[in-house]
Amino acid sequence: MLPLVALVGRPNVGKSTIFNALTRSRDALVHDEPGVTRDRHYGFCRLVEDRPFGLCDTGGLSGEEEGLAGATARQARAAVEEADLVLFVVDGREGPSGLDQNILAFLRKSGTRFFLVVNKTDGIDVQAAVAEFARFGVERVIPVAAAHQRGIPELLEEIIPELPEDGDAAVLSEDPGRIRVAFIGRPNVGKSTLVNRLLGEERMIASDVPGTTRDSIAVDLTRDGRDYRLIDTAGLRRRAKVEEAVEKFSAFKTLQAIETCQVAVVLLDAGEGVTEQDATVLGLVLNAGRALVVAVNKWDGQDKYTRDQAMSMLERKLSFCEWAERITISAKHGTGMRELFKAIHRAHASATHQFSTAETTKALSIAIESFPPPVVRGHAAKMKFAHPGGANPPTFIVHGNRLKSLSESYRRYLENFFRKRFKLVGTPIKFVFKEGE
Ligand code: GDP
Ligand code: GDP
Repeated sequence: MLPLVALVGRPNVGKSTIFNALTRSRDALVHDEPGVTRDRHYGFCRLVEDRPFGLCDTGGLSGEEEGLAGATARQARAAVEEADLVLFVVDGREGPSGLDQNILAFLRKSGTRFFLVVNKTDGIDVQAAVAEFARFGVERVIPVAAAHQRGIPELLEEIIPELPEDGDAAVLSEDPGRIRVAFIGRPNVGKSTLVNRLLGEERMIASDVPGTTRDSIAVDLTRDGRDYRLIDTAGLRRRAKVEEAVEKFSAFKTLQAIETCQVAVVLLDAGEGVTEQDATVLGLVLNAGRALVVAVNKWDGQDKYTRDQAMSMLERKLSFCEWAERITISAKHGTGMRELFKAIHRAHASATHQFSTAETTKALSIAIESFPPPVVRGHAAKMKFAHPGGANPPTFIVHGNRLKSLSESYRRYLENFFRKRFKLVGTPIKFVFKEGE
Protein backbone atom coordinates (compact mmCIF):
# COMPACT_ATOMS: atom_id res chain seq x y z
CA MET A 1 0.00 0.00 0.00
CA LEU A 2 1.17 3.56 0.51
CA PRO A 3 4.75 3.99 1.67
CA LEU A 4 5.19 5.40 5.16
CA VAL A 5 7.58 8.14 6.29
CA ALA A 6 8.14 8.65 10.03
CA LEU A 7 9.17 11.91 11.68
CA VAL A 8 11.49 11.36 14.61
CA GLY A 9 13.27 13.81 16.89
CA ARG A 10 13.36 15.25 20.36
CA PRO A 11 10.53 17.53 21.47
CA ASN A 12 10.31 21.04 20.03
CA VAL A 13 12.55 20.62 17.02
CA GLY A 14 9.60 21.23 14.69
CA LYS A 15 8.27 17.78 13.83
CA SER A 16 4.62 18.86 13.89
CA THR A 17 5.45 21.93 11.86
CA ILE A 18 7.04 19.73 9.20
CA PHE A 19 4.13 17.30 9.45
CA ASN A 20 1.68 20.13 8.80
CA ALA A 21 3.75 21.51 5.94
CA LEU A 22 3.75 18.11 4.23
CA THR A 23 0.11 17.19 4.89
CA ARG A 24 -1.48 20.60 4.59
CA SER A 25 -3.70 19.67 1.68
CA ARG A 26 -5.63 17.25 3.83
CA ASP A 27 -6.01 19.15 7.03
CA ALA A 28 -8.53 21.58 5.62
CA LEU A 29 -10.84 18.89 4.33
CA VAL A 30 -13.24 18.36 7.20
CA HIS A 31 -13.62 20.61 10.18
CA ASP A 32 -13.64 19.34 13.72
CA GLU A 33 -16.72 17.51 14.82
CA PRO A 34 -17.49 17.11 18.49
CA GLY A 35 -17.31 13.52 19.66
CA VAL A 36 -14.72 12.44 17.14
CA THR A 37 -11.32 11.38 18.29
CA ARG A 38 -8.83 12.33 15.65
CA ASP A 39 -5.55 10.56 15.35
CA ARG A 40 -3.42 13.51 14.56
CA HIS A 41 -0.29 11.48 14.32
CA TYR A 42 -0.99 10.07 10.92
CA GLY A 43 -1.56 11.93 7.70
CA PHE A 44 -0.95 11.84 4.00
CA CYS A 45 1.35 13.88 1.83
CA ARG A 46 -0.09 14.49 -1.60
CA LEU A 47 2.05 17.39 -2.64
CA VAL A 48 3.72 15.37 -5.38
CA GLU A 49 1.11 14.13 -7.77
CA ASP A 50 1.11 10.37 -8.34
CA ARG A 51 3.46 9.79 -5.42
CA PRO A 52 1.45 10.12 -2.24
CA PHE A 53 2.83 8.73 0.98
CA GLY A 54 1.74 8.30 4.56
CA LEU A 55 3.34 10.39 7.25
CA CYS A 56 3.65 9.57 10.92
CA ASP A 57 4.54 12.16 13.54
CA THR A 58 5.96 10.05 16.35
CA GLY A 59 5.58 12.80 18.93
CA GLY A 60 9.11 12.40 20.17
CA LEU A 61 11.43 9.50 20.50
CA SER A 62 13.43 10.59 23.48
CA GLY A 63 10.62 11.52 25.92
CA GLU A 64 13.01 13.32 28.23
CA GLU A 65 11.85 11.87 31.53
CA GLU A 66 10.90 8.42 30.42
CA GLY A 67 13.89 7.85 28.18
CA LEU A 68 13.97 5.43 25.30
CA ALA A 69 12.01 2.81 27.23
CA GLY A 70 8.88 4.92 27.87
CA ALA A 71 5.51 4.51 26.23
CA THR A 72 5.89 7.36 23.75
CA ALA A 73 9.26 6.02 22.77
CA ARG A 74 7.82 2.55 22.29
CA GLN A 75 5.26 3.94 19.87
CA ALA A 76 7.95 5.86 18.06
CA ARG A 77 10.05 2.75 17.75
CA ALA A 78 7.13 0.84 16.30
CA ALA A 79 6.64 3.63 13.77
CA VAL A 80 10.31 3.50 12.82
CA GLU A 81 10.03 -0.23 12.25
CA GLU A 82 6.93 0.19 10.12
CA ALA A 83 8.35 3.09 8.10
CA ASP A 84 10.08 2.97 4.74
CA LEU A 85 12.03 6.11 5.55
CA VAL A 86 12.68 8.17 8.67
CA LEU A 87 13.17 11.92 8.81
CA PHE A 88 15.37 12.58 11.82
CA VAL A 89 14.58 16.19 12.70
CA VAL A 90 17.05 18.36 14.63
CA ASP A 91 17.10 22.02 15.68
CA GLY A 92 19.51 24.07 13.56
CA ARG A 93 19.56 26.89 16.09
CA GLU A 94 20.41 24.87 19.12
CA GLY A 95 22.83 22.52 17.44
CA PRO A 96 23.41 18.86 18.39
CA SER A 97 22.29 17.72 21.83
CA GLY A 98 22.75 14.59 23.89
CA LEU A 99 19.20 13.52 23.13
CA ASP A 100 19.92 13.82 19.42
CA GLN A 101 22.89 11.51 19.96
CA ASN A 102 20.67 8.91 21.63
CA ILE A 103 18.20 9.00 18.79
CA LEU A 104 20.98 8.76 16.24
CA ALA A 105 22.34 5.66 17.93
CA PHE A 106 18.88 4.13 18.00
CA LEU A 107 18.25 4.86 14.33
CA ARG A 108 21.55 3.34 13.31
CA LYS A 109 20.62 0.18 15.16
CA SER A 110 17.12 0.04 13.68
CA GLY A 111 18.42 -0.36 10.17
CA THR A 112 15.66 1.85 8.72
CA ARG A 113 16.96 4.36 6.21
CA PHE A 114 16.98 7.95 7.53
CA PHE A 115 17.71 11.53 6.50
CA LEU A 116 18.87 14.27 8.82
CA VAL A 117 16.54 17.27 8.56
CA VAL A 118 18.03 20.41 10.06
CA ASN A 119 15.09 22.66 10.88
CA LYS A 120 14.77 26.32 11.94
CA THR A 121 17.47 27.50 9.56
CA ASP A 122 15.62 30.75 8.93
CA GLY A 123 17.63 33.86 9.80
CA ILE A 124 20.84 31.96 10.55
CA ASP A 125 23.85 30.82 8.54
CA VAL A 126 22.55 27.65 6.94
CA GLN A 127 25.95 26.24 6.04
CA ALA A 128 27.25 26.70 9.55
CA ALA A 129 24.13 25.13 11.07
CA VAL A 130 24.46 22.10 8.83
CA ALA A 131 28.19 21.82 9.53
CA GLU A 132 27.49 21.50 13.24
CA PHE A 133 25.87 18.15 12.56
CA ALA A 134 28.65 16.89 10.31
CA ARG A 135 29.99 14.66 13.04
CA PHE A 136 26.74 12.71 13.05
CA GLY A 137 28.03 11.26 9.79
CA VAL A 138 24.58 11.12 8.17
CA GLU A 139 24.87 10.90 4.43
CA ARG A 140 21.81 12.93 3.50
CA VAL A 141 21.36 16.25 5.30
CA ILE A 142 18.56 18.63 4.32
CA PRO A 143 18.23 22.12 5.80
CA VAL A 144 14.67 23.46 6.11
CA ALA A 145 12.71 26.23 7.80
CA ALA A 146 9.41 24.46 8.07
CA ALA A 147 7.60 27.34 9.73
CA HIS A 148 8.26 29.34 6.57
CA GLN A 149 7.72 26.48 4.11
CA ARG A 150 11.36 26.84 3.15
CA GLY A 151 13.20 23.73 1.97
CA ILE A 152 10.01 21.67 1.80
CA PRO A 153 10.09 21.17 -1.99
CA GLU A 154 13.75 20.17 -1.76
CA LEU A 155 12.92 17.78 1.06
CA LEU A 156 10.20 16.18 -1.07
CA GLU A 157 12.60 15.83 -3.95
CA GLU A 158 14.88 13.80 -1.71
CA ILE A 159 12.11 11.71 -0.16
CA ILE A 160 10.26 10.54 -3.27
CA PRO A 161 13.04 8.53 -4.97
CA GLU A 162 13.66 6.69 -1.70
CA LEU A 163 10.15 5.32 -1.42
CA PRO A 164 8.96 2.02 -2.85
CA GLU A 165 6.47 2.21 -5.67
CA ASP A 166 2.95 2.40 -4.39
CA GLY A 167 1.00 -0.83 -4.66
CA ASP A 168 -2.22 1.17 -4.62
CA ALA A 169 -1.80 2.10 -8.24
CA ALA A 170 -2.76 -1.42 -9.26
CA VAL A 171 -5.67 -1.55 -6.86
CA LEU A 172 -6.96 1.81 -8.00
CA SER A 173 -6.35 1.74 -11.70
CA GLU A 174 -7.93 -1.47 -12.90
CA ASP A 175 -11.62 -1.84 -13.25
CA PRO A 176 -13.08 1.55 -12.48
CA GLY A 177 -16.52 -0.06 -12.64
CA ARG A 178 -16.02 -1.78 -9.31
CA ILE A 179 -16.98 -0.23 -6.02
CA ARG A 180 -13.97 -0.25 -3.73
CA VAL A 181 -15.07 -1.24 -0.26
CA ALA A 182 -13.01 -1.55 2.91
CA PHE A 183 -14.25 -3.38 5.99
CA ILE A 184 -12.56 -1.78 8.92
CA GLY A 185 -12.80 -1.68 12.69
CA ARG A 186 -10.87 -2.45 15.80
CA PRO A 187 -9.65 -5.98 16.45
CA ASN A 188 -12.32 -8.58 17.27
CA VAL A 189 -15.35 -6.82 15.85
CA GLY A 190 -15.64 -9.56 13.24
CA LYS A 191 -13.91 -8.26 10.10
CA SER A 192 -12.32 -11.52 9.06
CA THR A 193 -15.45 -13.51 9.88
CA LEU A 194 -17.42 -11.19 7.62
CA VAL A 195 -14.94 -11.20 4.76
CA ASN A 196 -14.50 -14.94 4.85
CA ARG A 197 -18.24 -15.41 4.83
CA LEU A 198 -18.60 -13.13 1.83
CA LEU A 199 -15.83 -14.85 -0.04
CA GLY A 200 -16.75 -18.37 0.96
CA GLU A 201 -20.47 -18.35 0.54
CA GLU A 202 -21.30 -16.27 -2.40
CA ARG A 203 -19.69 -18.41 -5.06
CA MET A 204 -18.18 -15.16 -6.11
CA ILE A 205 -15.43 -14.69 -8.54
CA ALA A 206 -12.67 -14.12 -6.04
CA SER A 207 -9.17 -13.42 -7.16
CA ASP A 208 -6.22 -11.58 -5.75
CA VAL A 209 -5.64 -8.46 -7.74
CA PRO A 210 -2.46 -8.80 -9.76
CA GLY A 211 0.24 -6.22 -9.23
CA THR A 212 -0.47 -5.73 -5.57
CA THR A 213 2.22 -6.40 -3.05
CA ARG A 214 2.02 -9.25 -0.61
CA ASP A 215 0.62 -7.09 2.14
CA SER A 216 -1.97 -5.28 0.14
CA ILE A 217 -4.31 -8.00 -0.86
CA ALA A 218 -7.39 -6.84 -2.62
CA VAL A 219 -10.06 -9.26 -3.72
CA ASP A 220 -12.66 -8.84 -6.42
CA LEU A 221 -16.16 -9.95 -5.66
CA THR A 222 -19.36 -10.10 -7.66
CA ARG A 223 -22.61 -10.04 -5.74
CA ASP A 224 -26.13 -9.74 -7.06
CA GLY A 225 -24.68 -8.84 -10.44
CA ARG A 226 -22.57 -6.02 -9.11
CA ASP A 227 -18.82 -5.78 -8.94
CA TYR A 228 -16.84 -4.91 -5.84
CA ARG A 229 -13.25 -4.77 -4.84
CA LEU A 230 -12.58 -5.53 -1.18
CA ILE A 231 -9.59 -3.53 -0.08
CA ASP A 232 -6.87 -4.44 2.36
CA THR A 233 -8.74 -5.48 5.42
CA ALA A 234 -7.25 -7.31 8.33
CA GLY A 235 -9.56 -10.14 7.40
CA LEU A 236 -8.11 -10.44 3.96
CA ARG A 237 -4.59 -10.34 5.22
CA ARG A 238 -5.29 -12.92 7.82
CA ARG A 239 -6.50 -15.44 5.28
CA ALA A 240 -2.89 -15.98 4.32
CA LYS A 241 -1.57 -16.46 7.82
CA VAL A 242 -4.10 -18.51 9.67
CA GLU A 243 -2.26 -18.84 12.93
CA GLU A 244 -1.51 -15.19 13.36
CA ALA A 245 -1.67 -13.84 16.90
CA VAL A 246 -4.23 -11.20 17.83
CA GLU A 247 -3.62 -8.44 15.41
CA LYS A 248 -2.63 -5.17 16.91
CA PHE A 249 -4.56 -2.14 15.87
CA SER A 250 -2.58 -0.14 13.35
CA ALA A 251 -4.03 3.26 12.64
CA PHE A 252 -1.85 3.52 9.57
CA LYS A 253 -3.08 0.28 8.02
CA THR A 254 -6.63 1.40 8.66
CA LEU A 255 -5.86 4.77 7.11
CA GLN A 256 -4.37 3.10 4.05
CA ALA A 257 -7.53 1.09 3.53
CA ILE A 258 -9.68 4.20 3.98
CA GLU A 259 -7.61 6.16 1.48
CA THR A 260 -7.93 3.45 -1.14
CA CYS A 261 -11.62 2.70 -0.77
CA GLN A 262 -14.70 4.58 -1.93
CA VAL A 263 -16.97 3.24 0.76
CA ALA A 264 -15.76 2.40 4.25
CA VAL A 265 -17.80 -0.09 6.22
CA VAL A 266 -17.00 0.38 9.89
CA LEU A 267 -17.86 -2.66 11.99
CA LEU A 268 -19.01 -2.28 15.57
CA ASP A 269 -19.69 -4.98 18.14
CA ALA A 270 -23.35 -4.83 19.24
CA GLY A 271 -22.42 -6.15 22.66
CA GLU A 272 -19.91 -3.40 23.29
CA GLY A 273 -21.42 -0.33 21.69
CA VAL A 274 -19.15 2.47 20.54
CA THR A 275 -15.74 2.29 22.21
CA GLU A 276 -13.05 4.92 22.06
CA GLN A 277 -11.16 2.92 19.44
CA ASP A 278 -14.33 2.72 17.33
CA ALA A 279 -14.60 6.50 17.55
CA THR A 280 -11.00 6.80 16.38
CA VAL A 281 -11.71 4.62 13.36
CA LEU A 282 -14.83 6.63 12.54
CA GLY A 283 -12.83 9.82 12.90
CA LEU A 284 -10.31 8.58 10.36
CA VAL A 285 -13.10 7.88 7.88
CA LEU A 286 -14.65 11.31 8.40
CA ASN A 287 -11.32 13.00 8.08
CA ALA A 288 -10.80 11.37 4.71
CA GLY A 289 -14.26 12.44 3.56
CA ARG A 290 -15.21 8.89 2.67
CA ALA A 291 -18.65 7.41 2.24
CA LEU A 292 -19.54 5.42 5.34
CA VAL A 293 -21.77 2.55 6.35
CA VAL A 294 -21.89 1.50 10.00
CA ALA A 295 -22.34 -2.26 10.37
CA VAL A 296 -23.42 -3.30 13.83
CA ASN A 297 -22.15 -6.86 14.02
CA LYS A 298 -22.87 -9.77 16.37
CA TRP A 299 -26.57 -8.88 16.31
CA ASP A 300 -27.25 -12.55 16.90
CA GLY A 301 -27.10 -13.62 20.50
CA GLN A 302 -28.19 -10.22 21.83
CA ASP A 303 -31.45 -10.07 23.73
CA LYS A 304 -33.97 -7.31 23.23
CA TYR A 305 -32.58 -5.28 26.11
CA THR A 306 -29.00 -5.27 24.75
CA ARG A 307 -30.25 -4.47 21.27
CA ASP A 308 -32.19 -1.45 22.52
CA GLN A 309 -29.22 -0.37 24.59
CA ALA A 310 -26.90 -0.69 21.60
CA MET A 311 -29.22 1.30 19.36
CA SER A 312 -29.69 4.18 21.77
CA MET A 313 -25.95 4.32 22.41
CA LEU A 314 -25.37 4.53 18.66
CA GLU A 315 -27.93 7.27 18.44
CA ARG A 316 -26.07 9.29 21.04
CA LYS A 317 -22.51 8.59 20.08
CA LEU A 318 -22.81 8.74 16.33
CA SER A 319 -24.62 12.06 16.11
CA PHE A 320 -21.60 13.45 14.26
CA CYS A 321 -22.35 11.15 11.34
CA GLU A 322 -26.13 11.00 11.41
CA TRP A 323 -26.07 10.66 7.66
CA ALA A 324 -24.43 7.24 7.80
CA GLU A 325 -26.75 4.26 7.59
CA ARG A 326 -26.57 1.72 10.41
CA ILE A 327 -27.11 -1.85 9.39
CA THR A 328 -27.38 -4.67 11.90
CA ILE A 329 -25.66 -7.84 10.79
CA SER A 330 -24.35 -11.16 11.96
CA ALA A 331 -21.17 -12.06 10.19
CA LYS A 332 -21.33 -15.41 11.89
CA HIS A 333 -24.73 -16.36 10.51
CA GLY A 334 -24.63 -14.24 7.39
CA THR A 335 -27.72 -12.19 8.19
CA GLY A 336 -28.12 -8.62 7.06
CA MET A 337 -25.78 -9.03 4.10
CA ARG A 338 -28.28 -7.94 1.50
CA GLU A 339 -29.16 -4.80 3.43
CA LEU A 340 -25.49 -4.11 4.00
CA PHE A 341 -24.70 -4.23 0.31
CA LYS A 342 -27.71 -2.10 -0.54
CA ALA A 343 -26.44 0.52 1.89
CA ILE A 344 -22.96 0.32 0.34
CA HIS A 345 -24.59 0.99 -2.99
CA ARG A 346 -26.62 3.91 -1.79
CA ALA A 347 -23.57 5.46 -0.15
CA HIS A 348 -21.51 5.02 -3.30
CA ALA A 349 -24.22 6.44 -5.53
CA SER A 350 -24.56 9.49 -3.28
CA ALA A 351 -20.84 10.03 -3.00
CA THR A 352 -20.21 9.92 -6.72
CA HIS A 353 -23.32 11.65 -8.03
CA GLN A 354 -22.66 14.29 -10.71
CA PHE A 355 -24.50 17.55 -10.18
CA SER A 356 -25.16 20.35 -12.63
CA THR A 357 -24.61 24.02 -11.82
CA ALA A 358 -28.24 24.69 -12.65
CA GLU A 359 -29.56 22.27 -10.02
CA THR A 360 -27.09 23.32 -7.31
CA THR A 361 -27.82 27.01 -7.88
CA LYS A 362 -31.53 26.29 -7.78
CA ALA A 363 -31.14 24.38 -4.53
CA LEU A 364 -29.19 27.28 -3.07
CA SER A 365 -31.82 29.84 -4.00
CA ILE A 366 -34.66 27.76 -2.56
CA ALA A 367 -32.66 27.24 0.61
CA ILE A 368 -32.10 30.98 0.95
CA GLU A 369 -35.70 31.77 0.17
CA SER A 370 -37.08 29.50 2.85
CA PHE A 371 -34.56 30.66 5.42
CA PRO A 372 -32.48 33.75 4.57
CA PRO A 373 -29.13 34.22 6.25
CA PRO A 374 -29.49 36.43 9.33
CA VAL A 375 -28.45 40.07 9.29
CA VAL A 376 -25.20 40.65 11.15
CA ARG A 377 -24.42 44.26 12.06
CA GLY A 378 -26.66 45.64 9.37
CA HIS A 379 -25.52 43.27 6.65
CA ALA A 380 -26.43 39.79 5.55
CA ALA A 381 -24.26 37.41 3.59
CA LYS A 382 -25.19 37.41 -0.07
CA MET A 383 -24.92 34.03 -1.78
CA LYS A 384 -25.19 34.25 -5.55
CA PHE A 385 -24.75 30.82 -7.01
CA ALA A 386 -23.42 27.35 -6.28
CA HIS A 387 -21.65 24.96 -8.57
CA PRO A 388 -20.44 21.40 -8.09
CA GLY A 389 -16.80 21.10 -7.04
CA GLY A 390 -16.19 17.39 -7.24
CA ALA A 391 -17.32 14.06 -5.87
CA ASN A 392 -16.34 11.71 -3.09
CA PRO A 393 -17.31 13.60 -1.03
CA PRO A 394 -19.81 15.70 -2.98
CA THR A 395 -18.55 19.27 -2.85
CA PHE A 396 -20.50 22.45 -3.47
CA ILE A 397 -18.82 25.76 -4.12
CA VAL A 398 -20.87 28.76 -3.10
CA HIS A 399 -20.00 32.20 -4.48
CA GLY A 400 -21.08 35.46 -2.93
CA ASN A 401 -20.18 38.32 -0.59
CA ARG A 402 -19.68 38.61 3.15
CA LEU A 403 -19.70 34.84 3.36
CA LYS A 404 -17.49 34.92 6.42
CA SER A 405 -20.47 36.15 8.40
CA LEU A 406 -22.33 32.88 7.80
CA SER A 407 -22.62 31.14 11.13
CA GLU A 408 -21.79 27.52 11.74
CA SER A 409 -25.48 26.79 12.24
CA TYR A 410 -26.43 28.39 8.93
CA ARG A 411 -23.79 26.32 7.19
CA ARG A 412 -25.28 23.24 8.78
CA TYR A 413 -28.71 24.32 7.62
CA LEU A 414 -27.42 24.53 4.04
CA GLU A 415 -25.78 21.16 4.35
CA ASN A 416 -28.96 19.53 5.63
CA PHE A 417 -31.01 21.25 2.98
CA PHE A 418 -28.80 19.96 0.16
CA ARG A 419 -28.66 16.55 1.74
CA LYS A 420 -32.45 16.29 1.81
CA ARG A 421 -33.05 17.81 -1.58
CA PHE A 422 -30.60 15.55 -3.37
CA LYS A 423 -31.35 12.55 -1.14
CA LEU A 424 -27.72 12.07 -0.20
CA VAL A 425 -27.12 9.26 2.27
CA GLY A 426 -23.99 7.63 3.54
CA THR A 427 -21.60 10.36 2.52
CA PRO A 428 -20.32 13.54 4.10
CA ILE A 429 -20.83 16.62 1.98
CA LYS A 430 -18.64 19.63 1.79
CA PHE A 431 -19.26 23.31 1.17
CA VAL A 432 -16.59 25.74 0.03
CA PHE A 433 -17.43 29.44 0.28
CA LYS A 434 -15.81 31.78 -2.22
CA GLU A 435 -15.87 35.49 -1.79
CA GLY A 436 -16.61 37.65 -4.84
CA GLU A 437 -17.49 36.96 -8.50
P1 GDP B 1 7.75 19.24 17.78
O1 GDP B 1 7.64 19.19 19.27
O2 GDP B 1 9.03 18.63 17.32
O3 GDP B 1 6.57 18.70 17.06
O4 GDP B 1 7.91 20.80 17.40
P2 GDP B 1 6.83 21.86 16.86
O5 GDP B 1 6.53 21.61 15.44
O6 GDP B 1 5.71 21.90 17.82
O7 GDP B 1 7.68 23.20 16.94
C1 GDP B 1 8.28 23.63 18.13
C2 GDP B 1 8.52 25.12 18.07
O8 GDP B 1 9.46 25.44 17.06
C3 GDP B 1 7.26 25.91 17.73
O9 GDP B 1 7.23 27.05 18.55
C4 GDP B 1 7.44 26.28 16.27
O10 GDP B 1 6.80 27.49 15.96
C5 GDP B 1 8.94 26.41 16.18
N1 GDP B 1 9.40 26.15 14.80
C6 GDP B 1 9.06 25.11 14.02
N2 GDP B 1 9.64 25.21 12.81
C7 GDP B 1 10.36 26.35 12.83
C8 GDP B 1 11.20 27.02 11.86
O11 GDP B 1 11.37 26.60 10.71
N3 GDP B 1 11.80 28.16 12.27
C9 GDP B 1 11.62 28.69 13.50
N4 GDP B 1 12.25 29.82 13.78
N5 GDP B 1 10.84 28.09 14.43
C10 GDP B 1 10.22 26.95 14.11
P1 GDP C 1 -11.56 -9.26 13.54
O1 GDP C 1 -10.42 -9.16 14.50
O2 GDP C 1 -12.29 -7.96 13.42
O3 GDP C 1 -11.19 -9.81 12.20
O4 GDP C 1 -12.63 -10.26 14.23
P2 GDP C 1 -12.88 -11.81 13.94
O5 GDP C 1 -13.57 -12.00 12.66
O6 GDP C 1 -11.62 -12.55 14.17
O7 GDP C 1 -13.95 -12.13 15.09
C1 GDP C 1 -13.64 -12.02 16.47
C2 GDP C 1 -14.52 -12.94 17.26
O8 GDP C 1 -15.89 -12.56 17.15
C3 GDP C 1 -14.46 -14.38 16.78
O9 GDP C 1 -14.48 -15.22 17.92
C4 GDP C 1 -15.72 -14.55 15.95
O10 GDP C 1 -16.18 -15.87 15.94
C5 GDP C 1 -16.68 -13.65 16.68
N1 GDP C 1 -17.72 -13.14 15.77
C6 GDP C 1 -17.53 -12.53 14.58
N2 GDP C 1 -18.70 -12.19 14.02
C7 GDP C 1 -19.67 -12.61 14.88
C8 GDP C 1 -21.11 -12.54 14.86
O11 GDP C 1 -21.75 -12.06 13.94
N3 GDP C 1 -21.76 -13.06 15.95
C9 GDP C 1 -21.10 -13.61 16.98
N4 GDP C 1 -21.82 -14.09 17.99
N5 GDP C 1 -19.76 -13.69 17.03
C10 GDP C 1 -19.05 -13.21 16.00
